Amino acid sequence: MTRSYVIKPELGKTYPYISHGKGIYLYDQEGKRYIDGCGGAVTASIGHGVEEVAEAMYAQAQKVSFAYRSHFSSDAVEALGAKLAEWAPGSLNWTFFVSSGSEATETAQKIAIQYWQEKGRPTKNRIISRWMSYHGITMGALSMSGHVLRRKRFVPLLEDYPTISPPYPYRRPEGMSLSEYGLQCANELEAAILRVGADQVAAFIAEPVIGASGGAVVPPDGYFQRIREICDKYEVLFIADEVMTGVGRTGKTFGMDHWGVVPDLMTLGKGMSAGYTPMAATIVTDEIIETITQGSGLIMAGHTYSANPQSAAVSLAVLQYVEKHQLIEKSAEQGAYLLQRLEALAEELPLIGEARGLGMLCGLEFVRDKATKEAFPLSAGVASKVIAKSFEKGLIIYPAIGGLDGVAGDAIIVAPPLTITKSEIDELIAILREAILAVQQDLQEKAMF
Ligand code: PMP
Repeated sequence: MTRSYVIKPELGKTYPYISHGKGIYLYDQEGKRYIDGCGGAVTASIGHGVEEVAEAMYAQAQKVSFAYRSHFSSDAVEALGAKLAEWAPGSLNWTFFVSSGSEATETAQKIAIQYWQEKGRPTKNRIISRWMSYHGITMGALSMSGHVLRRKRFVPLLEDYPTISPPYPYRRPEGMSLSEYGLQCANELEAAILRVGADQVAAFIAEPVIGASGGAVVPPDGYFQRIREICDKYEVLFIADEVMTGVGRTGKTFGMDHWGVVPDLMTLGKGMSAGYTPMAATIVTDEIIETITQGSGLIMAGHTYSANPQSAAVSLAVLQYVEKHQLIEKSAEQGAYLLQRLEALAEELPLIGEARGLGMLCGLEFVRDKATKEAFPLSAGVASKVIAKSFEKGLIIYPAIGGLDGVAGDAIIVAPPLTITKSEIDELIAILREAILAVQQDLQEKAMF
């Protein structure tokens, strides 16, 4: 291997070189096969090597790949916008295209603030968010993210937006019912708005199912309905960050569809282009666009690659593939099977505190003591060990580590392509089980468990 000049996630570590992918499998240049048990970063949701997408990519590239949005619109971007307007609920009809989830949430933040400015209420410029949340790595998005580990280094540069507790059913107060707990968590938003002053608050942002910072943490039913009520009562916009949950990942088109709640702004990324091109979006309501149109008429956001025809054509082909192969329905069906298999693992293996999830977005949380739910310290690196062991055995899973900086243990996300079959899920579970058993044994030998 020649010397590398590429900055890798872990400096000094050697990574295998990818060769190709097909379906749920990835192959490295040594010929080793991996099950992509998390679509990379919960991204490759239609599987690898889909011909139709490659063809759409080539066809658009033959016409034109790049035309700047200040100069041209395109058939591809208009068709994609129309498809998203068709899919999105309520009057979420207008899409601002960007290239990453962080850009999408930061654009949502900016549009929410601008909306209140255009309405003549410029003091409404703060965003409320939750601890144990992740909305992106750029400064605005990180300001909204209650991911302790990812914030730590930059705290002096960030707004202190994260304010309220996440709904975290596994660790709810003993004896409290799920619905009572959901309401208690949602009511924290009302308290926060009253504390800050409704005239200072532009929006509240939340992930429908907590992803990278918690490991597929599903809120109690009723939680988001109450959040919607509170936002309406105090004239606070509700931003649903569907970057991870959108486009069928949780078994419905959007995560929020599980509770019939329509946000004012919604962000998409990851599954929107399923890894075939960088693509993400901020979708907003008619009301927001009408207000800004009547005001300055110009949204103060955007990036060089926003709405480029090449990425739009690829994303459109991905959404068409999802529709054609009924992958949202498959996600619900196979996801229920995946969760059932993970729950059986959790029954069997003492290292697993809880198996949880919705559709094809599932997670496992590791604990030192199942009865007391005592967490391992972050330094024990339990989830990282399970991930490393799985990788060695040919299974890729995603970390959910450090969201609460060790306070609540660490977790993994299992979120394979929505195309996965039952027998492939069995194969995935068999490897994961072996990996967890190996880590359990190692921890026992070191008297850490
Ligand atoms: N929001 C959510 C809910 C996410 O899961 C992520 C990525 N894990 C982001 C935003 C940021 O997306 P990106 O990494 O594409 O910037």
